[in-house]
Amino acid sequence: MTMNHSYRKNVVIIGGGPAGLSAALMLAKRGWKDITVLEKRPSANYYEPDKSFSYQIDGRGQKLTDSLEITDKLADLSVASTEFYLTFIQKDGTRKTKKLPIVDSQRKAAYWLPRSSFVQLLYQEIQQYWQETIQVLFNIECIEIKDNSENLEIRFFSTCYAKLTIKMPV
Ligand SMILES: Cc1cc2nc3c(=O)[nH]c(=O)nc-3n(C[C@H](O)[C@H](O)[C@H](O)COP(=O)(O)OP(=O)(O)OC[C@H]3O[C@@H](n4cnc5c(N)ncnc54)[C@H](O)[C@@H]3O)c2cc1C
Repeated sequence: MTMNHSYRKNVVIIGGGPAGLSAALMLAKRGWKDITVLEKRPSANYYEPDKSFSYQIDGRGQKLTDSLEITDKLADLSVASTEFYLTFIQKDGTRKTKKLPIVDSQRKAAYWLPRSSFVQLLYQEIQQYWQETIQVLFNIECIEIKDNSENLEIRFFSTCYAKLTIKMPV
């Protein structure tokens, strides 16, 4: 079925991965309203075996989680790495492991967790505190973005083709 619905939105973010959901949360914290995230996956914690990987959220990443006040929740979900080792493997298979010195004694622990857990953590934050402001729509794939000088038109596919219209600031 092909249908053409038109909706007006303030902010539309294509992709509800870590960057998209974080951007939505940061905008909401700065007072933006009516934020929509379009995500082609069926859910925040959707597991794709061919793309499953773990994130390491180190001090840089924790600048974001600190500002969202979710670093404690991140720590609960993760495995922390505080020490670093280097293993030399010789041609004959023998191994020698050396503990690396940590130059910065104040260095924060880095947290390891699956992508799906991190995305779910951000999504839960939206569900818990920003439901009125941020709408995350799953199973929606953006096909095209058109700039009509006054509007941005975002064409997407869900169960049918549709479009969102974003009014450009004057
Ligand atoms: C094997 C591997 C290991 C990695 N390990 C780490 C790590 O340890 N630490 C780290 O920081 N980074 C790691 N990365 C990099 C990691 O991919 C990025 O840090 C992170 O995923 C970037 O987040 P993102 O939200 O920008 O992109 P993505 O995670 O790719 O999210 C983009 C989202 O947009 C959606 N999307 C895409 N196109 C459309 C469309 N047309 N319409 C609607 N939705 C759409 C996708 O479904 C996805 O959910 C790794 C990458 C790989 C491949």
